[in-house]
Amino acid sequence: MAAAIGIKGHCAQCNMTFELKPWQLNAIAIDIPFDCTYCHCGLQLECVKQLRQFKALDHWALVRPSMIMLTCATLLMALVAEWLGLLSVIGQLNISLVAVLSHLLVVRYARHRQTMTLKLQVISPLPVEQLARIACARLSQQ
Ligand SMILES: [Zn+2]
Repeated sequence: MAAAIGIKGHCAQCNMTFELKPWQLNAIAIDIPFDCTYCHCGLQLECVKQLRQFKALDHWALVRPSMIMLTCATLLMALVAEWLGLLSVIGQLNISLVAVLSHLLVVRYARHRQTMTLKLQVISPLPVEQLARIACARLSQQ
């Protein structure tokens, strides 16, 4: 997930906040627990609201490239319209200015939405009996 910049995780066990690495973000995305960087506790994102926000990040990541295309198209159209005499120079400048300003605002908002701190819950390690049962089940399958 290349778009995930500025996503932090907060460990409920040691109270540390740290920048999440791409593999940790992947683990959250596929709902697999991972170790805290500091206290090596098993962590998992359990808050449903945050999980939904996290899953929506992919959509926010698309905002920037699509805004670049939209802004370029608008600037080009304004330029062509001016060449064809449909717009005055002032009109063309106004449209370009509005396009660039709204571009900056939207990209800034998208980046704001992409910056978040995930509250990670400590997951209790599986009891030994359960691990043994899983191992037995795996062995009997082979
Ligand atoms: Zn920790």
